Amino acid sequence: MSNVGQFKHGDRDKPIVAPEEVLETPDLFRLLVESVQDYAIFVLDPDGIIQSWNAGAERLTGYTHEEIIGRHCSIFYGPEDVAAGKPEHSLDEAARVGRYEEEGWRLREDGTHFWANVVVTALHNPNDVLIGYAKVTRDLTERHLAEQRAIADTRRFAKEEAARAIAVAQANEFSTLLDQVRSQTMELERRRAEAAAANQSKSDFLAAMSHELRTPLNAIGGYAELLAMGLRGPLTSEQRSDIDRIRSSQQRLLGIINDLLNFTRVEAGQVAYDLVNVVIADVLESVSGMLAPQLLERHLVYDESVCPRAVVARADRAKMEQILLNLLSNALKYTKPGGHIAWRCSATADRVRITLRDTGPGIPSDRLDDIFEPFVQVGRNFTHTSEGAGLGLAISRDLARAMGGELTVESTLGVGSAFSLDLPRVP
Ligand code: ADP
Repeated sequence: MSNVGQFKHGDRDKPIVAPEEVLETPDLFRLLVESVQDYAIFVLDPDGIIQSWNAGAERLTGYTHEEIIGRHCSIFYGPEDVAAGKPEHSLDEAARVGRYEEEGWRLREDGTHFWANVVVTALHNPNDVLIGYAKVTRDLTERHLAEQRAIADTRRFAKEEAARAIAVAQANEFSTLLDQVRSQTMELERRRAEAAAANQSKSDFLAAMSHELRTPLNAIGGYAELLAMGLRGPLTSEQRSDIDRIRSSQQRLLGIINDLLNFTRVEAGQVAYDLVNVVIADVLESVSGMLAPQLLERHLVYDESVCPRAVVARADRAKMEQILLNLLSNALKYTKPGGHIAWRCSATADRVRITLRDTGPGIPSDRLDDIFEPFVQVGRNFTHTSEGAGLGLAISRDLARAMGGELTVESTLGVGSAFSLDLPRVP
C-alpha cells in the first residue's frame, strides 16, 4: 500500500469524493499526492520515463499532465547535464543504494531555470524487482539565490577587508619610510652643519694664521732690504747673493700667504665687487705690462692680440686683473722657454670670452675639474713646491662666478692648455 508505484495515472480521472462512497485509504493517499502544491511528486519507470504527475509538478515545471506523461526525466536537465549523464547517474545511484539526493539547476517548460532539491527513491515490488522511481522535487531557487548572495557578500567583504589591510600595511610602510627619510634628512642636516662648522674653523684658522705670518714675513723682507741697500755696512758679493735669495723666498712665501688670505675672504663671501664697464683691451695691456720682465726672461713668444676696444665686460676691474694675472703667471710658470703664449678675445650678444692659450705640458683630462679645487697641484707634490699653494685657480673661479662669469679650461696633454674667462658683456 505504501508503494507509490501502484498508482496509475489513469486513476486521476476518477471522481475524488463520491457522496455515497466512503473514501478508501489508497484513495486518500492518491488524493494527498496529487493535490500537494509545494512539491513535484512523480513516478518514473525503470528507464526514467515519467508515469505519473501531480499538481505540484505542474506548478513547478509548467508541464501539464498530458504533455509530460511518457517523456524521459532528462527533459528537466540542461544540455550540459544531459551530456554529462546526470539524469542516468541519479537513477543508477538510487537503484544502487535505494535513494539519491542532489541539488542543481533544472529547466522549466518555458526554458527558465529553477534551483531544485531532488530526492529519487527506487521502487521495488515484493520480489525485490526494480519497478521504477519516485521523484520528489522542491524549488529552492529563493533560498539558493539568498545563499549565493550571502556568499558573494562574504567574498566581497573579505576582499574589501583584504584591500583595507593592504592599504593599512602600505600606509604603515610609507610612514616608516617617511620616518627614515626624516631621520636621514636630520642626520644629513647635522653632518652638513658639522661640515660647515669645520669649514668655518678652517677658514678662521687660515685667516688668523695668514695674518700672524705676514707680520714677521714683512719684517724679514724689510730687514733684508736694509741689508741689501748697504745701510748696515758694505756687503761682499756672496752676502749680496744670499740676501737676494732671502728676499725672493720671502716674496714667494708672502705670495702664498696672500693667496691663503684672499681665498678665505672669497670663500667667506667677505669680498665686495664693484661692477663697472671694463674695456678688455685695457686690462690685457695692464696685465701684460705687469709680467713683461718675466716674459722676456723666459724667452717666450707672446701674442697679446688685439682685442677690439668695443668689447666691454661688466666686471670688477681689479678682480678681473687678478684672474687674468693668475692665468698669465701660470702659463709663464708652466711653459718652457721658446713656447708660445697667446691671448684671444671673442664676444656674443651678451657674453665676452678671454682665452689664454699656451704650449705648456697640458693637464690630464681626468684632472681638468680638480685644478679648480683649492690646494690641488697636478703632477707635483704640494709639500715640495715653492711656487704656490694651489689656490690661484680656486680663487679665480670663485671671483669669476661672483661676477656672473665662469672660468673653464681645455687642455691636451703634451700640447698645451687654454683657459677661458667668460663675463657678462656690455652691449
Ligand atoms: P698653483 O699654480 O699655485 O699650483 P693654481 O690653482 O694656479 O695653483 O693651479 C693649480 C694647478 O693647475 C697647478 O698646480 C698646475 O698643476 C695646473 N695648471 C694651472 N695652469 C696650468 C697651465 N697653464 N698649464 C699646465 N698646468 C696648469
